[in-house]
Amino acid sequence: MAILNSKVPEGPIKDKWTKYKDKINLVNPANKRNIDIIVVGTGLAGGSAAATLAEQGYNVKAYCYQDSPRRAHSISAQGGINASKNYMGDGDSDYRLFHDTVKGGDYRSREANVYRLAEVSVNIIDQCVAQGVPFARDYGGLLDNRSFGGVLVSRTFYAKGQTGQQLLLGAYSAMNRQIARGKIEMFNRHEMLDVVIVNGKARGIITRNLITGEIERHSAHAVIIASGGYGNVYFLSTMAMGANATAAWKIHKKGAFFANPSFTQIHPTCIPRSGDYQSKLTLMSESLRNDGRIWVPAKIEDAKAIQQGKLKPTEIAEEDRDYYLERRYPAFGNLVPRDVASRAAKERCDAGYGVNGTGEAVFLDFASAFERYGKEQAKIKGIKNPSEEEIIKLGQAIIEEKYGNLFQMYEKIIAENPYETPMMIYPATHYTMGGVWVDYNLMTTIPGLYCIGEANFSDHGANRLGASALMQGLADGYFVLPYTIGDYLADEIRTGEIPTDTPEFDEVEKSVKERIDFFMNNKGSKSVDHFHKRLGVVMWNKAGMSRNEKDLQEAMKEIKAIREEFWKDVKVSGDANEMNFELEKAGRVADFLELGELFAKDALNRNESCGGHYREESVVTEGEQKGEALRNDEDFAYVAAWEYKGEPADSVLHKEELEFKDIELKQRSYK
Ligand SMILES: Cc1cc2nc3c(=O)[nH]c(=O)nc-3n(C[C@H](O)[C@H](O)[C@H](O)COP(=O)(O)OP(=O)(O)OC[C@H]3O[C@@H](n4cnc5c(N)ncnc54)[C@H](O)[C@@H]3O)c2cc1C
Repeated sequence: MAILNSKVPEGPIKDKWTKYKDKINLVNPANKRNIDIIVVGTGLAGGSAAATLAEQGYNVKAYCYQDSPRRAHSISAQGGINASKNYMGDGDSDYRLFHDTVKGGDYRSREANVYRLAEVSVNIIDQCVAQGVPFARDYGGLLDNRSFGGVLVSRTFYAKGQTGQQLLLGAYSAMNRQIARGKIEMFNRHEMLDVVIVNGKARGIITRNLITGEIERHSAHAVIIASGGYGNVYFLSTMAMGANATAAWKIHKKGAFFANPSFTQIHPTCIPRSGDYQSKLTLMSESLRNDGRIWVPAKIEDAKAIQQGKLKPTEIAEEDRDYYLERRYPAFGNLVPRDVASRAAKERCDAGYGVNGTGEAVFLDFASAFERYGKEQAKIKGIKNPSEEEIIKLGQAIIEEKYGNLFQMYEKIIAENPYETPMMIYPATHYTMGGVWVDYNLMTTIPGLYCIGEANFSDHGANRLGASALMQGLADGYFVLPYTIGDYLADEIRTGEIPTDTPEFDEVEKSVKERIDFFMNNKGSKSVDHFHKRLGVVMWNKAGMSRNEKDLQEAMKEIKAIREEFWKDVKVSGDANEMNFELEKAGRVADFLELGELFAKDALNRNESCGGHYREESVVTEGEQKGEALRNDEDFAYVAAWEYKGEPADSVLHKEELEFKDIELKQRSYK
């Protein structure tokens, strides 16, 4: 049984990273020129890592399945990126960001990693500003901040509702400089289909050229996986349609442990599902909760009338509305963390108070923000006795300035004007906190194989706070990995080029080709999506926002059965030697069908409620917190790292016990 070594340095938490950097092995600039590094994924994590490593002098080979790094899923991030700059002077600090992140993650993350994340967060903002990222600025020209759920300060830097896009343009331009210099060789439209291990070390990957179908070998001294999250295991999610688990799952099958697979984030503010034929869900940024108030009708008869289209939300009197988050959580109100807000919405909808035809929606209402901002604007502009109409107009202009593109997007999808009627929202799968287990160096359990960004498990515990994913991806890529990888590569300076004409490459390439041949020749009767949708239904119903032992046991069995049927009856049309989306999907769904079962097994094992993982058996039964999630620190204060053993159900659990020396473990309360 392998023993997990997190390699967290000794010493006070505030000094760990600084002292570690002082002592870590380095590779001298001349030797860096002789070292190749593969980076799989060029979203914010991989893109920033590729650019920085190339800038340092390494030879980087970077891969993405899209036609350009600019199309990575990171582009869709709307709301912002956290950093403990304390520009608002509202009491922020590295410690507070660290504290909020560990608490927000329900005390299931590694303290030392999170503290380092908080420390380097400030550098990220400086780096991105230097690249020209157009963060929002206040009237005086200083960078502006807003607030996200689970915190009491404003520390979120943003670029309207397009923060991810702007950050990605920054990382992409940094990459491009290195592509032009020949330090990054960019492989667009290349999908990594497996990793090659030589003498226990990661030495290369096998890819498929998605345009020609050619299977290729690529070697390097180290391999970095930055392939994003696996939320699409639910079929419907807010993630990009192509987002997948293949790279992460393939390295898991080769020996990289997979940590906390059941820790998924269900985001509270998404556009509700409209029917069975939908293939994608859309996020409405959490930033909207800064100004929008969430409510459902207080009376069941009003809820029914709304569901049947007989009553409009604007016709419900103020006293007949239930602002349930403000009622239940007065301290944080509409800005409670995502897991709490999602469960509260589900609770109201399950009780019959949902506000659309399916009964699975709640209102996000900006009426009081229009009024508040409108009154302020009237004062600023010196308008005496403004009419109600004037006030609303002035307020709407401010909201438009802040969230205009989100309002426009909502109107395009729902065909209702959110300036006139409240938005409807419902929770949806959004992010995966679980992922490949990594140590303090961001190395997996396979030497020379690293994992960064959403693909790893590291910093968010059981629940990620808003605007912290971009922070982590860029921290990993710009500021952490470029240091820590040197510690490993310092021993590789004499290795020389890694050959690809070896039995190890032969063997992996053969297995990749065999799998493609299988799909092309199977001639089954059902499409890949047929199986993916069925998997999604099981995941959502039995391993979704609320979980219990019986459902999870059933989920494991049902997923296995779907998987077996998939291998017998899947149909992939087209040719292997051309662009073939169906073939790409087949490989990805095959991996989801294994990951889904491990996910359910992990959720079954964790018989406690924590963060996004809510076990119905583990709930507070009395007192002020009655009905809230009950964590069990005595038995579950560990990272569950799973070792692959042939079948997901046979995976072996390794525990990384979590130590909390700098933060007191408390039941979370946002009341
Ligand atoms: C709608 C939405 C809004 C969000 N808003 C925010 C926000 O405001 N703030 C915030 O902090 N977070 C936000 N997030 C989360 C955040 O966007 C992601 O967690 C983050 O961008 C992930 O970055 P990444 O670099 O790890 O992965 P990705 O951006 O997903 O990039 C993955 C890369 O890996 C490549 N890849 C994958 N598999 C393979 C393979 N097998 N072979 C080759 N290449 C491969 C892809 O081509 C891509 O380049 C949001 C998420 C969503 C869904």
